[in-house]
Amino acid sequence: MNSVQIPKDVRVVENWVGGRWVAGSGNESGIVSPYSGTRVGTVRASTAAEVDAAVKLAAQAAQGWGKTPVKERCSVLFRFREVLLRDLEKLAQTISLESGKTLAEAKAGLMKGVEVLEFALSLQNLDVGGRMEVSRGVFCEYRRESLGVVAGITPFNFPAMVPMWMMPIAIGVGNAFVWKPSDKTPMTSRGIAEAWREAGLPDGVLTVLQGGRETVEAVLDHPEIRAVGFVGSTPVARSVYERGTRAGKRVLALGGAKNPIILMPDADLEMASRGITDSFTGCAGQRCMAASLLILVGDAEAILDQIIEKSKAIQVGRDMGALISLESRDRLVAAISRAEKDGAQVRLDGRGVAAPQGYEGGHWLGPTILDRVKPCSQAACDELFGPVLSVVRVATLSEALQIEAELPYGNAASVFTSSGAVAERVAQEARAGMIGVNIGVPVPREPFSFGGFYDSKFGSGDITGSAGVEFWSEKKKITVKWAAASDKNWMN
Ligand code: NAD
Repeated sequence: MNSVQIPKDVRVVENWVGGRWVAGSGNESGIVSPYSGTRVGTVRASTAAEVDAAVKLAAQAAQGWGKTPVKERCSVLFRFREVLLRDLEKLAQTISLESGKTLAEAKAGLMKGVEVLEFALSLQNLDVGGRMEVSRGVFCEYRRESLGVVAGITPFNFPAMVPMWMMPIAIGVGNAFVWKPSDKTPMTSRGIAEAWREAGLPDGVLTVLQGGRETVEAVLDHPEIRAVGFVGSTPVARSVYERGTRAGKRVLALGGAKNPIILMPDADLEMASRGITDSFTGCAGQRCMAASLLILVGDAEAILDQIIEKSKAIQVGRDMGALISLESRDRLVAAISRAEKDGAQVRLDGRGVAAPQGYEGGHWLGPTILDRVKPCSQAACDELFGPVLSVVRVATLSEALQIEAELPYGNAASVFTSSGAVAERVAQEARAGMIGVNIGVPVPREPFSFGGFYDSKFGSGDITGSAGVEFWSEKKKITVKWAAASDKNWMN
């Protein structure tokens, strides 16, 4: 099956609570496929009372799961991986249907999530605690403990990958996990919850609660939820961080981004033009690691021409997916027009792109390249979240780094060059949390953890890797003396 199938029926998306599918009773909203522009599902939000009832069941489940030996917990994670790989095609169909990704991107996103799951599988071998004789006859020990009930709130653009950044580690260390998927892409949660069920996860260890702002607020205010991971836009990330920490929770909230690529004239033509084109058009530019600002240093004209040629060859529906909503498309079209009015030159215009056959009602925008954009203008500084590349021209690397430093975000920054000295200077001086050298999408692979800086992240630490283990658990310290020590020590 190589194309995204638009179902004839409208699916009803429910909550997964205590091992049962039950509908929420809050506001109902429609789920519109970016491919067809038609309603393919409906979902009801979870009320504060429903959040409370679900968290109570999760808290009961957490007691048994937290005491289950880590090797037994990991055996469930192993089976979960098998089910996900078996169901990859089916899951990818749902991810694409509701998020607008191509099927290849949907599969790649899920597989990136599986990498985090594979990291979590190593918990059983690595996370052995520690013990030391700190004084004669006195031993200090630490034990890793789960927190109890924790929650994850995730965005539309990676319906499976971002939740998979959180749940394998959070569940692997022994917590019960409450997942609030995006209200725009809630359908994927069913396949993932079913995979956990089939893998043998006890009822209540995973809860899925659908909804938007009110459901999120009920989660943030709930006294039994100890930690919240959030991924989404910066304004929401900031408010989730503030509300959650005010309620005494541990919160890590990842926000939006405006990722610059510094292009040096000595960069390899093919590697740079391919890497930059793929970065700004992949997932139709709807990813927090997409390059959206190209800072051209000196005369790199030939490489820019190649980027334009490669982008022209991209066909929507085949190589690039659709935008999440018509509203999002209109916002991007308005931003392109505004940049044009401000003096930018539209070198490639995706506004009039023809819809692919069979998907005429979808939310399409072709790759768009805006040249000679003014630094600090909307196109250069704001996250547009679409396949739009803004090109700013400067004379020196210092000027390029200055522009990078003035961006409010700090998720990723890349440089394309053949000079090791230039690459090292960018790695040292750029403010972003994830740096690429001749890489357009510098997502660290496990076991390196994922996370940006500044307005791209609120809270400390990272969301994956060993930082994720620290975030979703705590270390209990135990100091022990059994035999009366023959000599004096600091304890007596
Ligand atoms: P969003 O902020 O609109 O939504 C994220 C989550 O918050 C969803 O579950 C949504 O239902 C909920 N939500 C929405 N409005 C809310 C409100 N007012 N109060 C409480 N909860 C609310 O983000 P989105 O549009 O779904 O996702 C795109 C954004 O996510 C982009 O800005 C992108 O850069 C960012 N993102 C960041 C990362 C990262 O790792 N830094 C990864 C993926 C996406």
